Amino acid sequence: MIAAAKTEQLNVLERTQLVMEQALNKMSYGKDVYELLKEPQRLLTVRIPVRMDDGTTTVFTGWRAQHNDAVGPTKGGIRFHPDVTVEEVKALSIWMSMKCGLANLPYGGGKGGIQCDPRAMSMGELERLSRGYVRAISQIVGPTKDIPAPDVYTNAQIMAWMMDEYSHIREFDSPGFITGKPLVLGGSLGRDSSTAKGVTIVMKEAARLAGFSVQGARVIIQGFGNAGSYLAQFLHKEGAIIVGVSDAYGALYDPDGLDIPYLLDRRDSFGTVSNLVENCITNEEMLQKPCDILVPAAISNQLTAANAPHIQAKVVVEAANGPTTLEGTKILTERGILLVPDVLASAGGVIVSYFEWVQNNQGYYWTEQEVDEKLEAILTAAFTSVYNTAQQHETDMRLAAYMAGLKKMVEACTYRGWV
Ligand code: NAD
Repeated sequence: MIAAAKTEQLNVLERTQLVMEQALNKMSYGKDVYELLKEPQRLLTVRIPVRMDDGTTTVFTGWRAQHNDAVGPTKGGIRFHPDVTVEEVKALSIWMSMKCGLANLPYGGGKGGIQCDPRAMSMGELERLSRGYVRAISQIVGPTKDIPAPDVYTNAQIMAWMMDEYSHIREFDSPGFITGKPLVLGGSLGRDSSTAKGVTIVMKEAARLAGFSVQGARVIIQGFGNAGSYLAQFLHKEGAIIVGVSDAYGALYDPDGLDIPYLLDRRDSFGTVSNLVENCITNEEMLQKPCDILVPAAISNQLTAANAPHIQAKVVVEAANGPTTLEGTKILTERGILLVPDVLASAGGVIVSYFEWVQNNQGYYWTEQEVDEKLEAILTAAFTSVYNTAQQHETDMRLAAYMAGLKKMVEACTYRGWV
């Protein structure tokens, strides 16, 4: 067993491996299963030369990780961020496997990342980078191999360029190569807001268990991008009081509730809102303010051994991937705070991405109501399964989610004769 102080030093991949090992042990699977699943089956590192607007060339480093394809093709987003690392991409691909397992989708997990700062790039530079990345990974991706999607700082426009590039390479139209596309290119109704819708669904279940209602609850949301801003919109409509929101540069806090329609109207395309007010506080200060529900919806490693003792929420719902360290999870759980882990809370995105892929394969498109109803049915069942697993095995919700999320993949690997 690794000492608590040491687990705080682990990177996101090591942390994921530790919980995975515990989950597989609890289910009495052999060591060979852990050896197979602890790293992605395939990892491609690419270096992409991009002609910048000033005529110089910049070479960007990127990755595509495919965790395990025993269940079906791998699936997962592409992150454009200056701080993205290979360990993070690998961990994200493993988390995608668990999301797909929890939602019972016919996929394994995949993930991509490029070290770059889209906020400092022109549209032309971003387009050339997006197309260059697809050319670099084209051999290992495809509608029946590995299907990318958006993640931090990538969006429907970037998916459209990538789909167009892939279709040129393959010489036929390939909408099912990538999800999160604009509607006119085969996107699904409800995909844009699906992660936040999913967070709302599991949040209602968690609040019910904690003995209160989302209506009238005070909520803090870290991050005001795709996940955070749609979530603020839905919760505001449900009658929740959003007392805090933040972005990469600072946080807004008002115990009486923030003007969400104003912030939604004025946010920029990178989810920046802190420039709209004068009296900002820091992200760290905001996380520790009193609220009923705290939603980290930005980046990893936000709730740690250092601040978990001071979190004043009844429920934490992880919309972001990896926002809480292992020690942070332990402290929050011991303090009786119900923590809904990322692999469950943020699975709405991949579920509706799956719906998009199904619609592309059929060439037949669903109404938003159909999408929403199917999403709700899947996520409610997933929440119940994780909660029951946690109760039955007396574990925290994260370990329970790993157990429930890995089960199908292990069975598929066993039937295939891999373990
Ligand atoms: P986004 O790029 O749309 O928005 C990111 C937000 O986080 C912005 O408001 C940005 O200012 C803020 N941010 C960036 N760096 C920060 C920092 N250091 N401190 C505080 N805030 C910071 O990204 P998104 O798609 O909303 O994703 C947010 C999180 O949700 C990520 O962890 C992502 O992996 C996860 N997620 C997203 C989806 C999806 O479909 N978009 C699905 C599942 C999980």
